[in-house]
Amino acid sequence: MGRLIGVLALQGAFAAHQHAFSELGVRTRQVRTREDLLGLDALVLPGGESTTMSMLLESSGLFDPIAEIIGQGLPILGTCAGMILLATNVNDARPDQRSFGAIKIDVRRNAYGRQIDSFEADIEVKTFDEPFHAVFIRAPQVSNASDSVEVLARHGNDIVLARQDSITVSSFHPELTADTRIHEMFLQEV
Ligand code: GLN
Repeated sequence: MGRLIGVLALQGAFAAHQHAFSELGVRTRQVRTREDLLGLDALVLPGGESTTMSMLLESSGLFDPIAEIIGQGLPILGTCAGMILLATNVNDARPDQRSFGAIKIDVRRNAYGRQIDSFEADIEVKTFDEPFHAVFIRAPQVSNASDSVEVLARHGNDIVLARQDSITVSSFHPELTADTRIHEMFLQEV
């Protein structure tokens, strides 16, 4: 049967993640209910709007079961808003915005000023031979990271791709380009 990757599908760029995994011959399932979490080998928290996603996680009853599977060590990939949801501390969040505190980073939402709300850059990723073309859309900025966090890529001084145990996060959108190397890297953890 092969591996089954859940993609949180409450809001945001979930379909593009599914497309990337299907290019790699890996099955995905859209996750909207607790039942959808059963039998997954990994879970993706996509980009979108973390405030909205946080509210939908509560109203759908998914927040606590996802916190539980994170605690069990299921591999999780969080991109952009997904990174915000996995962070320990979120600056410029609404007071009622909850995060999973799964990776010891502090992030600042929408930290890149208006003019560069969205930008693209080639970044050097640890273990990749060629640079990765990264698309940043109202990206969060990592303002602090614990020593337990492995830095996999930076843009300038900013950490943009990182891992801690089973949790991988990017502040950019690896699913929005045809390059599937970040997804492949994540699948090595699964
Ligand atoms: N700015 C968004 C947020 O705060 C994240 C943007 C994205 O996921 N592309 O949730």
